[in-house]
Amino acid sequence: MRISESRAKAEGRAQVRPTAEGWKQAMGDDGRPQLQFTAKKRVTQPPVHLADLTLDERAAKLKEIGLPAFRAKQLSVHYFQHYTTDPELMSDLPKDRRAEIADVMFPKLLTEVKRLATDDGRTIKFLWRLFDGSLIESVLMRYSNRITLCISSQCGCGMNCPFCATGQAGLTRNMSTAEILDQIVQANRVIAEGGLGGQKHPEERVGNIVFMGMGEPLANYKRVMNAVHRMVAEAPEGLGMSARGITVSTVGLVPAILKLAEEGVPVTFALSLHAPDDELRDEMIPVNSKWKVDEALDAAFNYYVKTGRRVSIEYALIKDMNDHGWRADLLARKLNARGRGWVHVNPIPLNPTPGSVWTASEPDVTAEFIDRLDSAGVPTTLRDTRGKEIDGACGQLAAAE
Ligand code: SAH
Repeated sequence: MRISESRAKAEGRAQVRPTAEGWKQAMGDDGRPQLQFTAKKRVTQPPVHLADLTLDERAAKLKEIGLPAFRAKQLSVHYFQHYTTDPELMSDLPKDRRAEIADVMFPKLLTEVKRLATDDGRTIKFLWRLFDGSLIESVLMRYSNRITLCISSQCGCGMNCPFCATGQAGLTRNMSTAEILDQIVQANRVIAEGGLGGQKHPEERVGNIVFMGMGEPLANYKRVMNAVHRMVAEAPEGLGMSARGITVSTVGLVPAILKLAEEGVPVTFALSLHAPDDELRDEMIPVNSKWKVDEALDAAFNYYVKTGRRVSIEYALIKDMNDHGWRADLLARKLNARGRGWVHVNPIPLNPTPGSVWTASEPDVTAEFIDRLDSAGVPTTLRDTRGKEIDGACGQLAAAE
């Protein structure tokens, strides 16, 4: 009997194994769930867009078509502060060249295919088509004191986690820096037009970004980091957002986590752990075959040491799979062994995905799991999950028309 089975039995519980149910998990030549770090086919990236470039690079590009550097600033204001790419609205540009300039700087990146709303319009899921037909989603959420946008970083995902809908179709390609950023600009435009429900405030816009949409952000490291740098760059070079309002969430690509700690942009870091023992995590998070629980936790702790930012541990609670008392205790031990006050745990009841037979943990089990961590001195808060009614919650984004 496996260790986890005997421990579950000792608690009078079952141990459900995370084999994919209702769909076939892609397997590699080694007989393990396939991991994709690069796209299957040769892919092309979208045409270069203003948001791909720094302010200086924008000026250089405009120079190629005979325009002075100050135009770069004007165009950046239009895009990052007025959320417009429509040449007709750019009255500060020479009339006879407006259309040409817009063609060069603002190739169309995201075309809205569908918009679904719930929570009285305070949660909106957008389905976007990219230039090559790829589909991605982002989710906009109004809370009492902030507006959060959950964004995608890849078309599909290559990490193949059996409980997440995005992984089921594999990775199509990385999103470009500008495609990542355009999700925010489009959301800001919708907010400015009054399209987000709830109590409105003047000048409001997206203040919090979570990289918890489709894709594994650290598998698209360079483009994602470029996008992050542009989010925090002051207007009009970028969006002038605060780094602490940006959360980068990962399955645990250790070398990339170490690199992130050296970027000098103190974003909030979240590790999708979901199991404290390798026996279970090997099956739940296929990338655990490369980097084990302890290595991922060491890298997360290093992020805290280098940035001073408290790290988040994400833990989707799945009935009889990873919600046993002994796992809460083991997780607390592993976190406390590295220090105090450096981490908090964010359990989230599993959201259903197509074909999956697993369900969220029972409320009393969830409460006990949290209580065990809290009592061990690990701050733990149940994550509020939005958008389940529109398949817009964590793990549910699959982008189909
Ligand atoms: N690839 C990154 C970011 C995208 S997922 C990562 O895995 O962290 C964002 C969060 O949703 C992750 O913590 C992920 O594990 C979680 N998640 C995935 N499927 C889920 C599901 N069915 N229910 C609840 N959370 C889920």
